[in-house]
Amino acid sequence: MSEPVHYQRVREHLENLRLDAALTELDPLLEKTAREERSVTWLLDQLLTTELTHRFERRVAANLRLSGIPARKTLEEFDYEAQPSVPKRTVEELASLRFLHHGENVLILGPTGVGKTHLAIGITLKAIEQGHKAYFLTLHDLINKFRIARERNRLHTLHATILRAGLFTLDEVGFQSLDSDDAAFLFEVINKRYVAGKSTIVTSNKSYGQWHEIFPDSVLAVALLDRLLHRATTINIRGDSYRLRHRKETGLPTEEVGRPVSFRCLSR
Ligand code: ADP
Ligand code: MG
Repeated sequence: MSEPVHYQRVREHLENLRLDAALTELDPLLEKTAREERSVTWLLDQLLTTELTHRFERRVAANLRLSGIPARKTLEEFDYEAQPSVPKRTVEELASLRFLHHGENVLILGPTGVGKTHLAIGITLKAIEQGHKAYFLTLHDLINKFRIARERNRLHTLHATILRAGLFTLDEVGFQSLDSDDAAFLFEVINKRYVAGKSTIVTSNKSYGQWHEIFPDSVLAVALLDRLLHRATTINIRGDSYRLRHRKETGLPTEEVGRPVSFRCLSR
């Protein structure tokens, strides 16, 4: 077989195998191989690395799209000086995702506006960037999904979706109190992930001692906290709302500062 025939067959094989990135890079890499007098194994290495890198990036983009993250907030943007009660070391440790590999949980507690959601999103983004599937929901959204799924007899699908995620992030626990069905469902979600050894991040404006206020039954609150805290890192944020402080510094009125936008949109 002549060289042009081989070349044409390689192109067809790459296309049939859907190795799109390798196909795109084939010509430039062939030229580079000749120009720099590289080996055939070098060429194969480059071609396959190109394809794998492209696939990984595509997967990360898809996981990001499906994650439900409401806004892109990175840990690099977090201003530690503005919030000294947030231990940078702990956040850096969480950013390494060791907690995820060990199936540990993260609880981020503190009043409104101190950066709980920002940190939760930042850590979730790290997991997505490393190729993990993540699922981000406010408790309000989760309860809405629960009620709809129950009505449609699709609770098993909702449980499966939540369980499939390498990281589940539940934001804004504490803004609303739950009825007994909601609470039982939440317990089931947390317990299933606990049993499966999968990590969950929870943010709350309530301290542990106040969690019984959210639940109709304090036994359930204790059982849920027991699962969450068994292997967990807690970040307890004390201090002023970041936005409020920012407004004070810039001389803007401070009254409007309240709950995060996502809650305002979703509240009934
Ligand atoms: P919480 O979830 O605690 O109510 P958010 O994370 O929603 O607070 O923070 C409110 C806003 O202030 C967001 O836009 C967030 O990015 C910003 N913010 C809060 N704390 C910080 C911080 N320390 N550094 C940078 N931005 C911050
Ligand atoms: Mg928040």
